Amino acid sequence: MSAASPTKPQAHRFAGQVVAITGGAQGLGAAFAHRFAAEGAHIVLLDLQCDKCEHLAHDLHRAYGTRTLAIPADVSDAAAVNHAVQQTLETFGRIDVWVNNAGVYRGTPMEQLDMEEWEMMLRVNYTGVFICLKAVAPIMKRQGYGRIVNISSIAGRTGFKNCLAYCSTKAAVIGLTRAAAMDLAPFGVTVNAVCPGSILTDMLRQVDAIICQNEGWPPGTHLKHKAEQIPMRRLGTPEEVASVVAFLASPEASYVTGQSIEVDGGEIVV
Ligand code: NAD
Repeated sequence: MSAASPTKPQAHRFAGQVVAITGGAQGLGAAFAHRFAAEGAHIVLLDLQCDKCEHLAHDLHRAYGTRTLAIPADVSDAAAVNHAVQQTLETFGRIDVWVNNAGVYRGTPMEQLDMEEWEMMLRVNYTGVFICLKAVAPIMKRQGYGRIVNISSIAGRTGFKNCLAYCSTKAAVIGLTRAAAMDLAPFGVTVNAVCPGSILTDMLRQVDAIICQNEGWPPGTHLKHKAEQIPMRRLGTPEEVASVVAFLASPEASYVTGQSIEVDGGEIVV
């Protein structure tokens, strides 16, 4: 087993369940889709990037025989999300798991952060989670079963330079998670957050590019420094986040709600 081996998929843990993932086209969302599909789930992908979702749906079918619904949807558009939920119900008849993963990052210094960017970040990273929660909670309540997993960040637990909007939205998602968990606990529906640290995806490459440009460093320098500072001395993989998301989304996590769990190699502890 290598240092970065997450738990192995369990073939039938999500057999017959319907798992929806926002921002499912790439990065963490695509890793979640692979993990749930490998464990027997039907998958619903909601993303702005329609072609990538269609490709992923094809890959999932080839690899696991998965039935996947790929829906073009902006999570900050309530009508589009409600429509996606209706389409999912018409296709599969239920929704067992909803992963609020869609997110955007900007590394803008405070002096340059304008209202337009601030509001865009809030709309996608925070209001988008609220919109999806509102759309899916009544269905899960009716079912008497549901698992909602919100992807926050360690940026919601601590402060990072030039990260005012991103840190704020990710902290807000942790608050929303706790409050939603209280409202839904009596109905067999759990709501938890996962706070990834530095996980190698396009988003983290974008973080590196912005910081290296600001500091006048060659590309890759920030990620190299970052990895050296993490107690585990490496960046995380999307699969390592997926195994924690899958646990929280599984029937095994039946008595876990309102929690925020870091998956960060110890980064937040230092
Ligand atoms: P990514 O940029 O690779 O993927 C994000 C996905 O979200 C993309 O497919 C994008 O098209 C989609 N998306 C963006 N805006 C959307 C919208 N309005 N509606 C629907 N889809 C939208 O990023 P990632 O690294 O995979 O990040 C996934 C989540 O994890 C984000 O919420 C991010 O903040 C969080 N996160 C990532 C890291 C990391 O190190 N990569 C760390 C902490 C938290």
